[in-house]
Amino acid sequence: MRQQTPTLARSWPIARVDEVEDRPFRVFTQRDLDRIEPLTRMSEEARFEMKVVSTVLPFRVNQYVVDELIDWDRVPDDPIYQLTFPQRGMLTDAHFERIAQLYRNGADKAVIEAAAHEVRLELNPHPADQMEMNMPRDAEGNRIEGIQHKYRETVLFFPSQGQTCHSYCTFCFRWAQFVGDKTLRIAASEARMLHGYLREHHEVTDLLFTGGDPMVMKTKHLQGYLEPLLAPEFDHIQTVRIGTKALSFWPHRFLGASDADELIDLLERMVKAGKHVALMAHYNHWREMETPAARAAIRRIRSTGAVIRAQGPLIKHINDDPAVWARMWKTQVSLGIIPYYFFVERDTGARNYFEVPLARAWEIYREAIQQVSGLARTARGPSMSASPGKVEVQGVSEINGEKVFVLRFIQGRNPDWVQRPFFAKYDDQATWLHHLKPAFGEEKWFWEDEYNAIRDDKVGAEA
Ligand code: SF4
Repeated sequence: MRQQTPTLARSWPIARVDEVEDRPFRVFTQRDLDRIEPLTRMSEEARFEMKVVSTVLPFRVNQYVVDELIDWDRVPDDPIYQLTFPQRGMLTDAHFERIAQLYRNGADKAVIEAAAHEVRLELNPHPADQMEMNMPRDAEGNRIEGIQHKYRETVLFFPSQGQTCHSYCTFCFRWAQFVGDKTLRIAASEARMLHGYLREHHEVTDLLFTGGDPMVMKTKHLQGYLEPLLAPEFDHIQTVRIGTKALSFWPHRFLGASDADELIDLLERMVKAGKHVALMAHYNHWREMETPAARAAIRRIRSTGAVIRAQGPLIKHINDDPAVWARMWKTQVSLGIIPYYFFVERDTGARNYFEVPLARAWEIYREAIQQVSGLARTARGPSMSASPGKVEVQGVSEINGEKVFVLRFIQGRNPDWVQRPFFAKYDDQATWLHHLKPAFGEEKWFWEDEYNAIRDDKVGAEA
C-alpha cells in the first residue's frame, strides 16, 4: 500500500504548556480489545484476528493515541493505526491458523501460551546477535545483564524499570522484551552495576538509555541512574542519550504528568553541568508531531538545552512514501528537531508484513532527501543495524558493467571498517545485509574474516 499524503485537517501551531489540557494516562492491552470504543464498530472477525495476532506479538495502546493520533475514518489504511494495532498479515498463515484453531477449540490459556511461545521463537526474537555478542562480561567472565557494548565509544543501558512503552509499535524490533518471557529480556536492576562498568571504561563517551522506553520510568528512578554521572569520575561520559517514543505516544509525560517538572529540572541540570543531553526521538510519521501536546512537549524539552534527534525505520503500510519522509523531516526542522536516522526495518518479528526491499528503501530515501533543504539532510540512511555494524546503502551504481549496491559502515565492531566503501551485487528483492552477496566475483566481504573471529570469540565464551 502506498501512502497518500492527505491535506491535514488537524494542524496546530506550537502550543505553550499551559495551553494543553491534562489528561489521565489510560492504557489498553489484549484483554481490553472489547473496551476500545472505535473497535466496537468493527466486525467480530476483525477483532478475533487482532486477538490472535496479539497473542503472539505484544499489543498495547493508550487513549491519547486512539483519540488524537489515529484518524478512524481512514482505518485500516491510517498509518498510526497500522503502527499500533495488530494486523492479520503480521503472522504467516500457518502461525495464524495454529493459534486461531486453539481459540476456536476452546484450548486452555496455558496451551495457547505455549504455542505462542513456540511461534515467537521462530520469529528471530534477538536479531543482530544482541544476546550473544553485545553483552559484556565482568572480570570473572559473568555476563553483565542490562548492558550492551557493541561499539567502542557507546554503551547501551536497559534500565529494568524502562522495559515497556506507552504504546507498542506493531513492527517493534525489541518486541521480545515485552512478551513476559524472562529468558528473552535484557534488563538490569542496579544503577550501581552501570556506574561500576562506566567507571572502568574510559573509552566510553556516550551512554544510551534505551528499552522499551526509559521515559515510562518515574523521574526519581531516572535520577538514580543519571545524577551520579555528574560526578567528576564520570567526566568521560560526555553525552547522555535517551531513546524514547514518549514524544509521540505520550507527550503529557513532559507536560502534566505528576513528576514532569522534576524531569524537566533533571534535564536542565545535566545540560548545565556540561553534559550533552539528547533525546533520541522515535518518529514514524509527521502526524505524530501535529498535536498541541506533542508540540508543547517538544518546546519544553528544547527549553532545557537538551537536543532532540529524530530517528525511525522505513515501514511498509506506515511510511513507505518519499512524501511522508520529506514532510516529516521538514516538520522536524521547523520544530528544532534534528533528523538523524532513516533505518531499515530489522529482520525480526512481523518483518514479512513491514519490510521494504533495500533497493526501494534507497529510492524512497533519495526522493525524500531531494525534496528538503540542507538542514534536513542530516538524516542518514537507509541504515541496517546488523550484527557487524550499522551498514548504510549509499546508492545503486554500475561499475564495469555490473549493477551494484554501494555500501559503507556508519558504525562497525571494528572502528577501522567505518567509512570504507564496499560493494554488493544488486538484488531488487534483498531486504537485509545477509541477503546480499559481494560484487565483482569476490568470495567474501572485506570485513568477514575479522567479524567471524570476533563472533567466535564472543559466542565461544557463551558455551
Ligand atoms: S517505542 Fe521502540 S521499543 Fe517501544 S514498541 Fe516502539 S519500537 Fe518498540
